[in-house]
Amino acid sequence: MDRNPSSTKSTPEARRANLVEIAVMAAIRNTLTYLVPDSFTVQPGQRVQVPLSTRRATGIVLRAGSTLPPGIEARPIVRVLDTEPVLTPEMLELGLWVADYYVAPIGEVFRAMLPLRSATRRARLVRLSELGRRTLGTQSDAAPDVAPGFSPAHAALKGGATMRATMPESAAIQGGVTALLAYLAKRGSASLQALRQKFPEAFLEALKEKWLVVDEVERERTQRQVYAVRVAGPVPEKPLRLSPVAKRILEALGAEGMAEDHRELLHTARADLAALRRLSASGLITLEPSRAERRSALPEFSPSGNSWAEADSSLVLTSAQKAAVEDLSKQLESGQFQTVLLHGVTGSGKTEIYLRLIARCLELGRTALMLVPEIALTPSAQAQFLARFGRNVALLHSALSENERHEEWWRIRRGEAKVVLGTRSAIFAPLSNLGVVIIDEEHDTSYKQEETPRYNGRDVAVVRARLARALAVLGSATPSLESYWNAREGKYRLATLPERVEGRKLADVEIIDMRQEFRETHTQVPVSRRLHQEIETQLAKCQQTMILLNRRGYSWFLLCRSCGQTERCVNCSISLTYHRREHRLICHYCGYSAPVPARCPNCDSQHLYYVGEGTEKVERKFAELFPSARVARLDRDVARRQGQFQHLLDEFRRGKIDILVGTQMIAKGHDFPGVTLVGVVSADIGLGMPDFRSAERTFQLLTQAAGRAGRGEIPGRVLVQTFYPDHYAIRLAAEQNYEAFFDKEMRFRRMMHYPPVTALANVIAQGSKLEQAAQVAKHVGSFLIPLEKQIEGLKILGPTPAPLAKLEGRFRIQFLLKCASRARLSSILQRLADYTDQQGIPQRSLMIDMDPANIM
Ligand SMILES: [Zn+2]
Ligand SMILES: [Zn+2]
Repeated sequence: MDRNPSSTKSTPEARRANLVEIAVMAAIRNTLTYLVPDSFTVQPGQRVQVPLSTRRATGIVLRAGSTLPPGIEARPIVRVLDTEPVLTPEMLELGLWVADYYVAPIGEVFRAMLPLRSATRRARLVRLSELGRRTLGTQSDAAPDVAPGFSPAHAALKGGATMRATMPESAAIQGGVTALLAYLAKRGSASLQALRQKFPEAFLEALKEKWLVVDEVERERTQRQVYAVRVAGPVPEKPLRLSPVAKRILEALGAEGMAEDHRELLHTARADLAALRRLSASGLITLEPSRAERRSALPEFSPSGNSWAEADSSLVLTSAQKAAVEDLSKQLESGQFQTVLLHGVTGSGKTEIYLRLIARCLELGRTALMLVPEIALTPSAQAQFLARFGRNVALLHSALSENERHEEWWRIRRGEAKVVLGTRSAIFAPLSNLGVVIIDEEHDTSYKQEETPRYNGRDVAVVRARLARALAVLGSATPSLESYWNAREGKYRLATLPERVEGRKLADVEIIDMRQEFRETHTQVPVSRRLHQEIETQLAKCQQTMILLNRRGYSWFLLCRSCGQTERCVNCSISLTYHRREHRLICHYCGYSAPVPARCPNCDSQHLYYVGEGTEKVERKFAELFPSARVARLDRDVARRQGQFQHLLDEFRRGKIDILVGTQMIAKGHDFPGVTLVGVVSADIGLGMPDFRSAERTFQLLTQAAGRAGRGEIPGRVLVQTFYPDHYAIRLAAEQNYEAFFDKEMRFRRMMHYPPVTALANVIAQGSKLEQAAQVAKHVGSFLIPLEKQIEGLKILGPTPAPLAKLEGRFRIQFLLKCASRARLSSILQRLADYTDQQGIPQRSLMIDMDPANIM
């Protein structure tokens, strides 16, 4: 089978020296071989443009000197896009490792590594066909009123007898079409979009008659200025005759009063740059270079004079902090690869250690990379970095526009930014001479990418550090079992911070048994009497309370009391959640939403009940219970409204909110010194999940939540409401005893052969029809099942319906693979992918997830 779509069969003897191996940025699993024309020279790491079937694509040169089987001739590279390699050999190697280990299409991996605007954009250009030219020729004889000045070259075609003979008699051309043809003849070509706008009917007519040819071309993308747009001042009550487009622009600027990237504004307001300029000229808005371009105005910090490491000398380190900084610095100075797990209780001052370590790294002339979970990268965290390292900092996260990401990437690549702070994909930041990689909250599942390439940023960080001979630091108060196991096994070095800074005590945690609460009160309420009473005390003392609840929306689901049916998503096998604000039922997996039925769609009964409490309901409940308190809510629904997330966090920090109700979003990494009470409303929701990590997740969430209390002068307290007060995850989280939890949970993992004692992979066959999924599962099974006997230590569970048997409209059949060795398991998956490719199974029908973060 020809595995190389770039090649065409022709003469043998491939010239080895002129062939290069290229990762084409498309959903292709393997590299492709292309010919380097004599006029080009290319180096590994350079981007090139190559033909791919009928189009052109961007690729990365991996190696020079490739081979092809005889009889296959490589197609030539079209263009070299970079004067120098954009990726270093080290980054190429990292990309190859990711593609290999996670069984990901290699081009997709490099696309993730290079978040660059493509150098070109695709355009469709229209020109006259031969027939079109002839038609115009004959027509212009008959119609002297044709638009003047069409090309003499084309005019020369006029009058040829043979041409005339081929003209069909019936082709009576309307005026519009004549104008269109003449327009094209004059200009040579025009963009399809422009032509359709100018000649809407004639265009279709001419296309139908085959008088036009449409070419797909690549056009150079011009570098354009990006503007931040803001409202200049209050819009006058009765503005002087605003045009509709001006109104749309002002409306789109809306409450925020600002847009960071004018192109997004133009899109929402259906406007053009000229309209913005007119508004700016009339003084209603201002245009200025966007944030990425403004950054260069930041001061440049340098270690001359007082050292970076001493920059914040007002902070006195605890002895444990001091020891950790010294130990980590020593590792860093050794110039050897090493991974350190920094296990520090909540509030033990890990961030200060990171900052000093990075400062030391810069002094050594090397660069530093720090990853944080998506939710923790708040402007306050950014400000801390900017204050310490100024213009040396580059930020990489998902809220950047394509343009900003491009600019930051190049600042890093050019060596202007030496410290990168970012979320998951920042692990591919093109820093050279990397000294340290820090992964904060290393247990966080947001480091795992849940789409191709399905890598885990934390694990890639360790590989990257190894390739760069750098120090990897994984920090957490609740390390993942994988990392702590590695530390116990001696693979990672362990550093611990057993105490909070400034001698602050860990919060006292009290468990409230909700079964007993129900027996005594005979009512099912989200707030126990004890929690109620404690909050009243808090309010009387003017202290702040945080309420954690891991379910957003108003009610969990809508249940029919007559027939027992719940309203389910049409695309996913999951109940819909009731959202009161929208008064709709919404799927938390795919976003599908439906109106709330008045009667049961199944049995027509009127007895529909809302079951369970989400954040929306609990917020309302608290507002009712404590009418004098200022209550707010923070979850994904609120955070989605632009600016709201940061605004609420600021208000809370400044003491403008008494009770903040939220999901795990509020439990992660924030520092609110005023919070002295944390109430966990239903601690056990997660325990019911059919995932082997549910106890670990629950333990982490509760410990992190408890960590939010008492970070200021006054000690904190935590109340945990649960129906399972004896469950070890809850009991040990209350004791904040990580070691004991680790030992207990490891017994379960050993017994059940789950990670970290074995490697795990999740393979899901999927299809929009159940039969399609079953067909794919049959192929997968026929390949995998026989391997179980041949490969020692391999165990295959399945095929079974996945816990989420239907997701986003696709049926899912699951295989779970366990194997003693990660490397062996990864190579089995690689062979499976090759096999399914050969069987012609499309990539979207098969999900391969190595080291899955969840197995739902
Ligand atoms: Zn019913
Ligand atoms: Zn859904």
